[in-house]
Amino acid sequence: MQPDENSGLKFEKEIIRSRFIHPDGRQVEGIIEVRINPVTGRTSRIAFNRSKEKEIGTERLPAPPPDAQKTDTCPFCRPQVFEQTPRLAKDRFDRARLEHKASLLFPNLFPYGRYSAVSLFDNSHFVEIGKASLDSYTDSFINCQNFLASLFKSDPDAIYMAITQNHLPSAGGSLVHPHLQVHADRIATNHHRFLRRRCAAYHTRSGRRIFSDYLASEKERQQRYIGKTGDWHWLAAFAPEGFFEIWAILPGQFSLLALDHGQWQSLARGVLNTQRFYRSLHRNGYNFGLLCQEDGHDVMELRAVILARSNYAPWVRNDHTGYEIMLGDMTTFSAPEKTAAAARPFWDG
Ligand SMILES: [Zn+2]
Repeated sequence: MQPDENSGLKFEKEIIRSRFIHPDGRQVEGIIEVRINPVTGRTSRIAFNRSKEKEIGTERLPAPPPDAQKTDTCPFCRPQVFEQTPRLAKDRFDRARLEHKASLLFPNLFPYGRYSAVSLFDNSHFVEIGKASLDSYTDSFINCQNFLASLFKSDPDAIYMAITQNHLPSAGGSLVHPHLQVHADRIATNHHRFLRRRCAAYHTRSGRRIFSDYLASEKERQQRYIGKTGDWHWLAAFAPEGFFEIWAILPGQFSLLALDHGQWQSLARGVLNTQRFYRSLHRNGYNFGLLCQEDGHDVMELRAVILARSNYAPWVRNDHTGYEIMLGDMTTFSAPEKTAAAARPFWDG
């Protein structure tokens, strides 16, 4: 491995050459780069040769899914949303559902943890990638924050919080009607536990915060730094664990509950910039995630992640193969430096 030590953090990568004879008789070398995530220590791989393979379903942006018009059978559309979705438990909330402007929030019918809710953007049933309004995203985020803040008052042990999004079924979404998931639990997820441990260890060792140092290092290099929206800084992940993975770092901020309207709006603006970038690549599915641990610490700064998933279109190959599932190393096909270069125009102006 070749350490790149511009800062205390190591950005390590190694090139592997895999030799074989092509069916046409040529001697071929496949180039694979193995990178180590400076924050987590996890390895991921970039198989450059595979970028030459034409991926089915990405020639153009796929047509809207078959249920894009089915507003009458969608449980998230009005008016049936008020009859067909769960209501908040009366011991913790004095209202059945939380409303913030056009956003409506209610419990997830299929909870993944102690507190699990869905935050709609508005009554729009199908919104193509990159076409949501800035206000709808901002208001849905704030609805999630209001839900988490209320919960936290009545259950201060539910410190493991997150906001996630699965856009379209190929990203895990069960309904096309756009929504965020909001989570709070007393039990940490793997990522909460592992990330917090790494951030604390780095702080103990250096007296500094790992995401601030990561950002400073990336700003200095300017290879993967994309741009800024308000206080949030956006960059292509050095060792991506998803296609076209982009991070947003908010230095010096540790709590989801402490974000103000402007910071949510800036986050929403960057998420929409990323979506427009994905749209330019003819991708229609993505996952978003922002997690935090609300225990008053000052080591794990807020970092959001957004990555493209396999397209939601007929006969598209899933992006997680036996390699990712069984061996745990994500393999993508293009350099994060190229991702950053292609994304930057969407942050201009
Ligand atoms: Zn709907």
